[in-house]
Amino acid sequence: MSVKHDHDDHSHMTETEARVRALETLLSAKGYIDSAAVDRIIQTYETKIGPQNGAHVVAKSWCDPEFAAWLRRDATAAIHSLGYISRQGEHMEAVFNSDDVHHLTVCTLCSCYPWSVLGLPPTWYKSPPFRSRAVIDPRGVLREFGLDLPTTTKVEVHDSTAEIRYLVIPQRPAGTEGFSEDQLVQLVTRDTMIGTAVALLPEGVA
Ligand code: FE
Repeated sequence: MSVKHDHDDHSHMTETEARVRALETLLSAKGYIDSAAVDRIIQTYETKIGPQNGAHVVAKSWCDPEFAAWLRRDATAAIHSLGYISRQGEHMEAVFNSDDVHHLTVCTLCSCYPWSVLGLPPTWYKSPPFRSRAVIDPRGVLREFGLDLPTTTKVEVHDSTAEIRYLVIPQRPAGTEGFSEDQLVQLVTRDTMIGTAVALLPEGVA
């Protein structure tokens, strides 16, 4: 097949993109959605709502034991108190990693994800291999992400649904005792809050 195309940009859309475009056009023509509003929502998720929100939740839980306790008890309310609100009305559950247990979150059915704290999901999170293998062989999946856990650490997999989304709270790295909340935020990546990574080591953080 020739690599060179002479078509316009539309021919470069994937099947899913084309389907989304067709759906959006139809819904908008029927007056169910407003294209400008859809663009605003997408832009919000691209620029304002992202893993930095979740990292703030994690860093605060590391610094503030009362907040951590609240997060364990009622993650939806604790997260809400920081201004991060679920637009689909789903409940949040925070699962805390320890030496004994490591948490991993997945949506085996589709792609449920804690949008309010992590923003847009990575492509691999929505891929069928991740969704099926995360439950069949979580340890193997984690190894592929470069995370080789000791056999003494139990791996617990949480299957997200339309009603419940999980936020993995990684362990606070050693050597960060004097760190401020802002410095700690920099150690918390998106993947640490999905559970495919652990928090970064403190070296190099200003
Ligand atoms: Fe889902």
